Formats: sequence, structure tokens, C-alpha cells
Amino acid sequence: MSQPVFYNTEGRAETPLETTHPDEVRIYTCGPTVYNHAHIGNLRTFVFEDLLRRALRFLGYRVLQVMNLTDVDDKTIQLAGDAGMSLEEFTAPFVESFFADLDRLHVERAEHYPKATDHVPEMIDIIEKLVERGYGYVAEGSVFFRIAEDEDYGRLSGFDLAEVRQGERVADDDYGKEDARDFVLWKGAKPGEPSWDSPWGPGRPGWHIECSAMSMKYLGETFDIHCGGVDNIFPHHENEIAQSESATGEPFVRHWIHAEHLIVDGAKMSKSLGNQYTLSELVEKGADPRAIRYLFLSVHYRKKLNFTFEGLDAAAAALAKIDEMKFRLAHATESAGSNGDSDGGHHSLVSPSTRQIPALCTTLRADFAAALADDLNASKALATLFDFVKAVNVAIESDVLAVGDKARVEATLAEIDTVLGVLDREAWEEAGGAKGGETAGPSDDDIAGWVKEREEARAARDFALADQLRDRLDAAGIVLEDTPQGTRWKRK
Ligand code: AMP
Ligand code: ZN
Repeated sequence: MSQPVFYNTEGRAETPLETTHPDEVRIYTCGPTVYNHAHIGNLRTFVFEDLLRRALRFLGYRVLQVMNLTDVDDKTIQLAGDAGMSLEEFTAPFVESFFADLDRLHVERAEHYPKATDHVPEMIDIIEKLVERGYGYVAEGSVFFRIAEDEDYGRLSGFDLAEVRQGERVADDDYGKEDARDFVLWKGAKPGEPSWDSPWGPGRPGWHIECSAMSMKYLGETFDIHCGGVDNIFPHHENEIAQSESATGEPFVRHWIHAEHLIVDGAKMSKSLGNQYTLSELVEKGADPRAIRYLFLSVHYRKKLNFTFEGLDAAAAALAKIDEMKFRLAHATESAGSNGDSDGGHHSLVSPSTRQIPALCTTLRADFAAALADDLNASKALATLFDFVKAVNVAIESDVLAVGDKARVEATLAEIDTVLGVLDREAWEEAGGAKGGETAGPSDDDIAGWVKEREEARAARDFALADQLRDRLDAAGIVLEDTPQGTRWKRK
């Protein structure tokens, strides 16, 4: 397994990934605040996190990912109140639309999607510890974190505590803080607001404590990677570190990875500019979610992504090149001979260059993995894919495909696609943008084709390929029976 290197916001340098559990990466990704439909900026961050989890698996790790749903905070409370609804009634449609968006972009599901409202007791536990240890103090039914007690506050964001003078009061500070720099852990309930009982009276958690509680519950007090968009660095993640480490005495997160923002036509998205798109709005304008996913993948996560419709057209054109190659490959013929063997004179002698496809496949796998392990360099990974596409096109044109080459190319692309999730056009079409995520199983024709390719590979004594095809069939739930009359197959 090659050990990947990622840029760590804490320390501002690329550092090798060190995991707390062997071969397993535990990741916490800040999820959506469900008071609205996600905009494409949010979705850029979620697609980046999907790329990260898929890349880690490609590199040989198991992944345990948690993404929270922030279903209680100032905005959800205010908007649910305005709509005369309970928090749950108000947030439910946005939770649903969030998952629909993930499916439409073929984002794999994380292992856990905890809701803040289901984890209030865990939050109260941490706050109690903080109060016991002198990091938290109670004022007017609320609880605050005393930043002056935390010596290394600011180490993630570079925030300089000395710049904000102690005792200075801020305009919206109506909760009785000792110090303007302190942040809220628990907010005493105002009349009519949803609230939970606590040792400090009825109230609700602050936003930051939600993520500390949900991450540590599912991933442990120290875990490997914490992600979010760059806007999360300060104060959200800085405060998560402060409260988690002060409560447990343990380091909280090893690697902080943040995605840069998406902007539209060179400008920050905003409702007033009318450029704050949701995925549904883009689809209504004719955008293809597959091209959107490709566009998101193609820009390195630490660069701003400037969304334009021209950029989307270019993404669609890049995908079309891959689709064309796959189509030509499916219709190309393989020569029976390989490794320079003659096939009995029906075709011209196959030159040793027929062995180029296995070499191209090996190179693509290796270069693709190396690009991912290099701070998730998706643009480099895609460049290696396009070199491969070009070389395969040349091989098809020169009519030098050997037996098994088609299956080799397809298997290699399928492997690469476990990371990219965009190469299988049919899967996207079948999903129809409605469900996505799961792809339908292979058709009878696909299976019969693989069985035939496996027989041919065995005849050509290419047992590695034959085994690979057998594994593929196995994964599709196909049972093979080798008989003197040939191989029979059936679905399990
Ligand atoms: P929110 O629903 O506001 O809590 O945000 C969900 C995720 O989207 C967080 O990780 C944010 O950092 C991220 N995010 C917010 N705005 C943008 C943007 N314009 N571009 C990329 N990510 C964003
Ligand atoms: Zn968070």
C-alpha cells in the first residue's frame, strides 16, 4: 500500500497520512445544515469528500466515514418557527433532497449520517466535562467555552487571540459572556423555541459542540481526517479542537483537509446575484449531473472551482472522448494470437506490440494511484487516464488487440471508475438522474460475453485474465460450471 500524502491545514504542509487503526481511515465530514436545499458549492465539497473516500479505498484502506446532519442551529430554529413547524417537520424535506442530490451525483454513502437532534445527551456529556475542568462556565442558562484557558487556541487557523482584546464586547453577544472571544457550548432556551433539558436548564447545543460529539462518538477521541470547506476552518473547526481536546485531554484530529470554495462566473455565489444554483436548477437548465461530477473532480480541491456553463460543456466533451473509445473498443476485433504467435495464417502475423495493452493497463493503475496519493491530484490522475485512452485508440486503429485485451481495458477502466464514478455512461443513464448510486447488475449479454472471454483467455493460457474474469463473474453473483461442452453459467 502506498502511503498517501495530503496537505494538512494544521501546519500548512503536505504530510503523510498516519492512521490510528492499521489500514483503516476514519473520516469526519461536516455535513449540511438542513434549512435549505444544498447549493452547488456545498456539493463541490461533498463530491471532493467522496473522491477522498474512494481514493483511500483504491489505495488499499478501509474507510469509516461519518457525515453529520445539522438539524438544529439558529437558522433551522428561526425558519421552522417562522413556518410554524416543528424542527423535524421543517428539516425533513431538506434531508431528503440532500440525499437525492448525493445520489444524482453518484456520491457513495458514508457509513453514518448522524442527526444532531439525536445526539444531544452526548453533547451534554462533553459540556459537563468542560465545566468540571474549568473550560466551560455557566451564565444566564447558557454555557460558554473560556478561550483564555486554552493555550493553543488558534493553532489550526492561525487566529491570533491577542488581536481581540479581552473584555471587548460584540454586538450580538446577548448571552452574558465573560469575554467576547468565548464561544457558546449550550444556549439557554428563549420562549417558544425548541429545547432539551440539561443540567443548566432547558436549551439547545451550540453548532460546534454538535460536530465534536458526533465525530468522537463514531470515530473515537482521536481520529484520522476531518474535512469541510475552507469556511469551516474558523471558527467552527478551531472551536471543535478547543472543546474536544479540553474535554478528553487527547489529540482530536490528525489531518485537517479543507476544500476551496466553488464560485460562479468568477464571482462568489449569492442569492442577490442570482448565481447560487442548486443541482435541480442546473438540471432544469439542461446540465447533465454526470458532467457536473466530472467538472468537480477535474479541479484540484485546494483550488477555487469557477463554475461556468462553458466549463460544463468542456467536461461533457471530455467524457464523450472516453465514451467513444469504449464504444470503439466494444466493436473492435481481437486477434487470436498474442505474444507474437501466429493464429494460423487467417490474419497477418501479430507483432510483439500486441503486448502493449497489458503494459498500458499496469501503467495506468500505477500512475493513477500515485496521482491520488499525491494530495489527491485528480487533474494529474485524469491526465494519465487520457494518455491511456489515446494509446488504446491507437491500438484499436492499428488493429493490434490480442485476445483478452478488450476485457483487460474494460476491467482497468472499471477499477479506475471505482474512484471517479463517471466512466460508466450506461449506469448514469439507467439511474436517469432519479436514483443513482446503485448501478443495475450486468445483463445476460454482458455475462455471456465475459464467460466467452474467459474461455478464450483459458484457451490462450492467459490464466491471470481468466481468473480476473472469474472474479468479476463471481462478484456479479454468477456461478460457472465448466463442462466438456463449454462453460455454463447461472445466476446465484
Ligand atoms: P453548510 O450546509 O453551510 O453547513 O455547508 C455544508 C458544507 O459545504 C460545508 O463543508 C461548507 O464548508 C461547504 N461550503 C459552503 N459553501 C461552499 C462553497 N461556496 N463552495 C464549496 N463548499 C462550500
Ligand atoms: Zn462540523
